[in-house]
Amino acid sequence: MTRAIFAAFVLTACARHPAPESFVRPSILLVTLDTTRDDAVRPDIAPNFNAIAKRGLRFTQAYTPVPQTLAAHCSMMTGLYPAGHGVHENGRYLSDRVPLLAEKLKAAGYRTVAFVSAFALARRFGLGRGFDSYDEDFGGERAERTAKETTDRVLAYLARPSPQPLFLWVHYYDPHFPYTPPPPFHGYLGEVAFMDQQLGRLVSAFHGAVIIVGDHGEGLGEHGEAQHGDLLYQATMHVPLAIIGPGIRPNVTDAPVSTRRVFHTILDWAGLDATHSLRRPEQEVVVGEAMKPFLDYGWQPQVMALEGRLKTISAGKIEVYDVIADPAETHDLSASASLSRPVRAAIQQYPIPSFAPPPADEESRKQLASLGYVSATTKPIVRKDAPRPADMARLFPLLDEAAQLFVAARYREVIPLLERILKDDPHNLDSALRLATAYSSLGRDRDAVAAFERAQAIDPNSEDVKTYFGLHLARGKEWQKAIPLLERVVADDPDRLPAVEGLAMIRERQGRIEDAIRLRQQIYRQRAPTSAELVQLGRMAMAVGQTAVAIDAFEKAHNNHDLELGVLYLAAGRLQEARDMLDRVPPSNPDYAMALFKRAQVSVLLHEPDSPSRIESARQHADATTKELIARERLFR
Ligand SMILES: [Zn+2]
Repeated sequence: MTRAIFAAFVLTACARHPAPESFVRPSILLVTLDTTRDDAVRPDIAPNFNAIAKRGLRFTQAYTPVPQTLAAHCSMMTGLYPAGHGVHENGRYLSDRVPLLAEKLKAAGYRTVAFVSAFALARRFGLGRGFDSYDEDFGGERAERTAKETTDRVLAYLARPSPQPLFLWVHYYDPHFPYTPPPPFHGYLGEVAFMDQQLGRLVSAFHGAVIIVGDHGEGLGEHGEAQHGDLLYQATMHVPLAIIGPGIRPNVTDAPVSTRRVFHTILDWAGLDATHSLRRPEQEVVVGEAMKPFLDYGWQPQVMALEGRLKTISAGKIEVYDVIADPAETHDLSASASLSRPVRAAIQQYPIPSFAPPPADEESRKQLASLGYVSATTKPIVRKDAPRPADMARLFPLLDEAAQLFVAARYREVIPLLERILKDDPHNLDSALRLATAYSSLGRDRDAVAAFERAQAIDPNSEDVKTYFGLHLARGKEWQKAIPLLERVVADDPDRLPAVEGLAMIRERQGRIEDAIRLRQQIYRQRAPTSAELVQLGRMAMAVGQTAVAIDAFEKAHNNHDLELGVLYLAAGRLQEARDMLDRVPPSNPDYAMALFKRAQVSVLLHEPDSPSRIESARQHADATTKELIARERLFR
């Protein structure tokens, strides 16, 4: 019996670890090329990419699952479509319940190191989990860095040898708008060419398996789309992909594949799991989505399914294209083509997001905005009469311009644009909400309330409307009207940071300090607090006698809170630490009298021989507050 269980256990263990004993895990480099169309890596523009790809397997029909940076990378790092990992747009947070590639590799003994080149992939959005080091230092206030800057840092890292196998992820951002490569390069293709030079430097300094992949492409005006994220056409969905490493013979394949298989391929190389690896590409229906216009503007959700050379797009109606014969997708074959059962199932069963994902905090929004990413979320409802995004291309330039003005806080200029958008697209919640926020920011209270009510009428359930209406009211004389709105949002969705922050502010104003502390702690579990915020939290906690919370806050605040910490350590009975802290308080501190008083208390409790002179010193320097405390202090008698 025991032996049978033992045998079964061994079998299970073998199945999980197919790699033989002698297997040596290779180092693995993943290079992600932001905003890189498949047709942009042609030989005259990207000679290094082509030379490297020739050594391995080049996929001529690789597709991103979603044409947005963070969401596309989440798919590569989880092996899941956005419906599986829950990130459909930039500025959202990947749930910490979704297992990540780097975590698996680290557990298998890899050193895991990432270098990203834009804030859209900052650690705070959730992809840092499992990485020993995650380099997102763009220099000062910048939100991105060039491929050269990133490569210089990677090469410096690679110069330090280590016996462990390495998983290295390098992200290049250059081809993203605006197109400003250093001379002699220019334009979008110039950005790709500049990046390709750096790719050459990087790959020649690395020894091991390599994957090079685009995160999504760029519209460049095709189908009315200048950038990416709004539509599902080849310009933004079709990306370069090449894999070079153990078990791969040089070849080119036109099998359609999803870039989410990067996850499975790397696990395969690492000897952890060989299923779905691109080393042996399977025939499958490749799926993609573009939910940004749905989530932000209330337009039709968009799903695509690709089988062989036929691509089906579902967005209010069905379009079918032969992407080999007609890569520009100008001849819709939907009237004559009959969809296969797997394609129909893929389209019909793809889950439309039915929840409102938590938006980014304000600072993240600003930084994303500087990269051209702006969005307000709506609680998604699929309206039968909602417009097809492809039919709304006339509004893309207006929406882009309004977004840029809005995040630049140029509210007076943005208002007429938003009014024009709403005239054309009256259900556009994002624009209605921005209009209300613009009026609110200009202090035009009555217009703001009317605009918020208009937004409420578009979507009565929108948590964004409740949040921003609540925040508007919270700033004014009628701040108490904000309470039910913000309470409701926080109860429904505790991850919605702006609402939680608004409610925390109100709780302080109401004198409900314990509640304010609890909300602040909730916020700081999701984003790092600033030093000033930690000090404020520490003071609140001191005021209500939450010593442990206060100690934690002041310790993390880092800048000279010796008196507060001295007082708190004393209260917690940590006398030696209290002594050391209080000794550091300089006479220039306005509360020096308090420091001397507390130090004298500590001195008595520690039975220091000089405690009488410390009590005397506290008496001599006493101020109005400490005089009375000293008089009543039993320790001093
Ligand atoms: Zn991107």
